[in-house]
Amino acid sequence: MKTLLTLMLMGTLQVSAAQAQTPFAIGGVTAQPGTLASGTLRVASRAGDAGSEIPFSILHGVRPGPVLALIAGTHGMEYTPILALQRLRTAIDPKALTGTVIMVHVANMPSFLSRTIYYSPADGKNLNRVFPGKADGSLSERIADVLTREVITRATHVVDIHCGDGNESLRPYVYWITTGPGDVAEAGRKLALASGFDHIVIDRGRPTDAAQSVYLSNTAILRGKPALTVESGSLANTDEASIARIERAAAGWLRELGMHADGPPPVAAPVWIDRSEVLMSGVTGIFYPEVDRGHSVAQGTLIGRITDFHGAVLEEVKAPFAGIVLYVLGTPPISKGEPVAFIGALQK
Ligand SMILES: [Zn+2]
Repeated sequence: MKTLLTLMLMGTLQVSAAQAQTPFAIGGVTAQPGTLASGTLRVASRAGDAGSEIPFSILHGVRPGPVLALIAGTHGMEYTPILALQRLRTAIDPKALTGTVIMVHVANMPSFLSRTIYYSPADGKNLNRVFPGKADGSLSERIADVLTREVITRATHVVDIHCGDGNESLRPYVYWITTGPGDVAEAGRKLALASGFDHIVIDRGRPTDAAQSVYLSNTAILRGKPALTVESGSLANTDEASIARIERAAAGWLRELGMHADGPPPVAAPVWIDRSEVLMSGVTGIFYPEVDRGHSVAQGTLIGRITDFHGAVLEEVKAPFAGIVLYVLGTPPISKGEPVAFIGALQK
């Protein structure tokens, strides 16, 4: 006959067994509870390209919990997210962590090493437009496929960390993506607030077909995982303020998800932007901005001029409505159909 003490001990054992953390493995690399493990996901070569490598870290906590994937370098010339994760991989103590953090340090290695904006030097594609990827596709499509299978599928929450690309002068903001089930969108809203960023763009326009998710964060959302895209930094800079903003946001996500006991509070009264528009160039030429990031503009305000290569003005780009300049092109080259600026109307 079992004594009360035995029953109590059994109960204790059952509870601790239920809460025991098991090892976590990605790409052949296993992290034991309370440790940091690092490795590289390999994207196999194919005729026409040499493949790629995706360096990652696993910070595996001592208690089971959410699996938060933080992804940098989806665009290879966006440096502040990459540098922020380099700091965070040693700043977060796995022994003080509930759950697991997966860090992808440079998602788009061909673009990073070749210093290209938007497009991969391997196939001319924008990695953040080819999700969920194709196992037998071009290099960007295969990178997306590996990220979808090995990282997004393994995570419970995903943050795709960006900044203004090498040509974009950007003020910080978060995209709250409303695609997907209501509970996923609501969890995403809380993560957006937990970022601590003071401007939140409400993004209602993402695709809803999981087989054609297009964007990284949308790939997670359409698989039932709350996800965000955040933007902090610009113009290939590596400034301290933009890096620190991402570090602070990560601490906020860990607190919000119950993965770490303390962390900064959510932003109290952010500016919500429910109407926004990327202004596209209708011509190819030289761009001259007339506003800077963060400027408030009225409807019709001149955002910039595009001239031909002999100085004749081809196009004047004007604000379609009153709002704030979230980003504006900060370098002269512009091709027809490329973004010139992103304007957001402040929610009343
Ligand atoms: Zn980007």
